Amino acid sequence: MIIVMEPGIKKELALKVEGEIKKAGLKPVLLAGTERFVIAVIGDERKLDEKVIRAMEGVETTMMVLAPYKLASKENRSSSIVSVNGCRIGGKKLIIMAGPCSLENEQNTLQIARAVKKAGAVMLRGGAFKPRTSPYAFQGLGEEGLKILKNIKAKTGLPVVTEVLDTRRVEMVAKYADIIQIGARNMQNFELLKEVGKTHKPVLLKRGISATIDEFLMSAEYIMSEGNPHVILCERGVRSFDKSTRFMLDISAIPVLKQKTHLPVIVDPSHAAGDRRYVCALARAAIAAGADGLIVEVHPEPKKALSDGDQTLNFPLFNKLMREIKQIAKAVGREI
Ligand code: PEP
Ligand code: MN
Repeated sequence: MIIVMEPGIKKELALKVEGEIKKAGLKPVLLAGTERFVIAVIGDERKLDEKVIRAMEGVETTMMVLAPYKLASKENRSSSIVSVNGCRIGGKKLIIMAGPCSLENEQNTLQIARAVKKAGAVMLRGGAFKPRTSPYAFQGLGEEGLKILKNIKAKTGLPVVTEVLDTRRVEMVAKYADIIQIGARNMQNFELLKEVGKTHKPVLLKRGISATIDEFLMSAEYIMSEGNPHVILCERGVRSFDKSTRFMLDISAIPVLKQKTHLPVIVDPSHAAGDRRYVCALARAAIAAGADGLIVEVHPEPKKALSDGDQTLNFPLFNKLMREIKQIAKAVGREI
């Protein structure tokens, strides 16, 4: 059962409802959203008298949720917005995140941040801990990279998104990141999901390369069930039989997710394409299909990038992408 509290009520009223749930021997999960509290009830709901809960002060409504992903399900709310330093992800305005695959040094990160900001991006991406296929490939700058992000954020005002790879580093990454990224390879690292759930920081959850939509949503549920409602989903392509692109962007995932969940959905056209020639087309398609934003890899000299250079856009190409998606955004009633 999901209990929806009235907007703007005091937390004590939500805590009273929590107490009632505990009294019945069930586990409450209290979620503080942007506008209101929502409480999920975990356990055998027959033990709870729905009428008693509904009569409590501050309770707007209660509802039964059939989907196994109770908190992420669209059954309990139509859409949710994740707020990050004034950027509202999931609203009318599309949120564009851009930056290098891997952070390299402060100077080029500042150059990239200024260029993408000028073109209309509102968030900077950059990996300090990199999940590489080969253990011999560049693994990222670690905390030094996080410090670069902090300095560039101070200079440009851009909030930052960066990946965490394992539970031991969650606290450190959460200290620097405005959004913590969980990469495709860790989508089902359940211990890591629980750990980022405990931070209450916004989480960008990328779809695993062979994960079904329901598995993807159950992973979001892991984060939310720890009390963190600030989850942004990211479609980034799935493994296919065809080698023409690095992964196959699942455009259908966008309307399907919009049907099943209230969470915002963004798209990563860079990792899907694996080839910069296709990135703009995939970005246009994503916005046309209803995505709430994009995360794009950009570097001044992609050929010299320390990772993923083939799929990385240079500044003129990123400017072109922004011009193109502005047109598409307008056509589908969105803005940039
Ligand atoms: C990334 O965003 O740099 C990345 C590694 O993405 P993914 O987890 O989608 O492969
Ligand atoms: Mn990359």
